[in-house]
Amino acid sequence: MKYKAYQVHNFKTIPQLTRMSDEEKINIEVVGNVLPFKVNNYVIDELIDWDNYLDDPIFRLTFPQKEMLHPQDFATMREALDANSSKDELKLIADSIRTKLNPHPAGQMEMNVPQYKGEKLEGIQHKYEQTLLFFPSSGQTCHSYCTFCFRWAQFVGMDGLKFAMRETEQLMGYLEEHQEVTDVLFTGGDPMIMSFKVFQQYIEPFLDPNNKTNIQTIRIGTKALGFWPYKFITDKDAQDFLDLFKRIVESGINLSFMAHFNHINELKTDAVREAVRLIRATGAQIRTQSPLIKNINDNSDMWAEMWREQVNLGMIPYYMFVERDTGARHYFEVPLEKTWEIFQQAYQQVSGVCRTVRGPSMSCTPGKVEILGIKEIPLHGKMEKVFVLQMIQGRNPDWVNRPFFAKYDPEARWMDDLKPAFGDKFFFDDELNALIEEAYLDSQSA
Ligand SMILES: *Cc1c(COP(=O)(O)O)cnc(C)c1O
Repeated sequence: MKYKAYQVHNFKTIPQLTRMSDEEKINIEVVGNVLPFKVNNYVIDELIDWDNYLDDPIFRLTFPQKEMLHPQDFATMREALDANSSKDELKLIADSIRTKLNPHPAGQMEMNVPQYKGEKLEGIQHKYEQTLLFFPSSGQTCHSYCTFCFRWAQFVGMDGLKFAMRETEQLMGYLEEHQEVTDVLFTGGDPMIMSFKVFQQYIEPFLDPNNKTNIQTIRIGTKALGFWPYKFITDKDAQDFLDLFKRIVESGINLSFMAHFNHINELKTDAVREAVRLIRATGAQIRTQSPLIKNINDNSDMWAEMWREQVNLGMIPYYMFVERDTGARHYFEVPLEKTWEIFQQAYQQVSGVCRTVRGPSMSCTPGKVEILGIKEIPLHGKMEKVFVLQMIQGRNPDWVNRPFFAKYDPEARWMDDLKPAFGDKFFFDDELNALIEEAYLDSQSA
């Protein structure tokens, strides 16, 4: 396949800008001053249909839309830009808007940061027993930014919000002390933004047969297949990456790509198909995941087609998520009821080989809460609807796979909106509150 040089664009350097009206350009600039914006030449040249860009899902996935800001916030930023405000003034205004957008959801800052030898490991999250998230410091950006991204805050440089960790020794030390951890998940940003030389340094310790961790699976959370498949095909270190993936597999460790695909259009280019083939040929698995996002992929037929195509290409559908409670959620979120309907209608259309997918799932403070469905039951002498839920993952493993019930609410969009259907608390609430209290006290004393 022909070499393609990676070229990243900011708002001013996109060739197709000439197709846009002044109004559209201003909208992008205003929102782009608050929320992160970055797009590369693959997305622009091969994914977006510019003849129909306003309705194009990949355009909406990467280009800021006016409605992503509340009208008042939009007006404030627009006035500041019209008045030629200084960079510092713009940043102050942007930060005050960002602060209102719940930049750090699900208690990630306080609750999931582990300690090693008395030191906080800021680049690690350990929420679920078996799987540790690792945020290598050089993997904290992406080839392009998704407009809905829940990690948006780290891309706009909001102080203290960037996970970063350089020390592989600390990671290995922690893993040696925590034999319950079988999976390390490299995440970001996108670890596949790293050059081979840098990435290799993080992996090599796991290939040392004398390492004393219990790691059996290395996962790589990445959007590179969707946004820069040339990473694995024609980039100058592409073959080095593939060789390393092969070495990981041959060492007896399961290597699993957790690939983000939000839309079937990301599976159609020659480049992505070739990249998938090359990665699979190393013996690595590719599992796929995406949130359900209004204006981008809120269509059950599209999901069914996407899962089928993923399976046809040899990938394994893994998660459908509920859009998180952060950033421009009001623009992207779909009510839980509708989310479940889309999941169910898509799931009904596919055979068992696609039904490895689980969801729709909310990654919230207690765990990954899956919406099993809506059911009518006799309650208080009449028939009433309830949400049937269960945890796929729990902060306490004992919470997993125990069905529980919430009051039906057609407006509910997130776990916080749900009330217990019976009694005044969910079965895990007391324990969760104790854990939150404990984490708060720890953070005060550290
Ligand atoms: C989803 C998630 C994981 C991985 O969970 P699996 O069910 O093993 O895929 C790990 N840590 C956090 C914080 C997560 O949100």
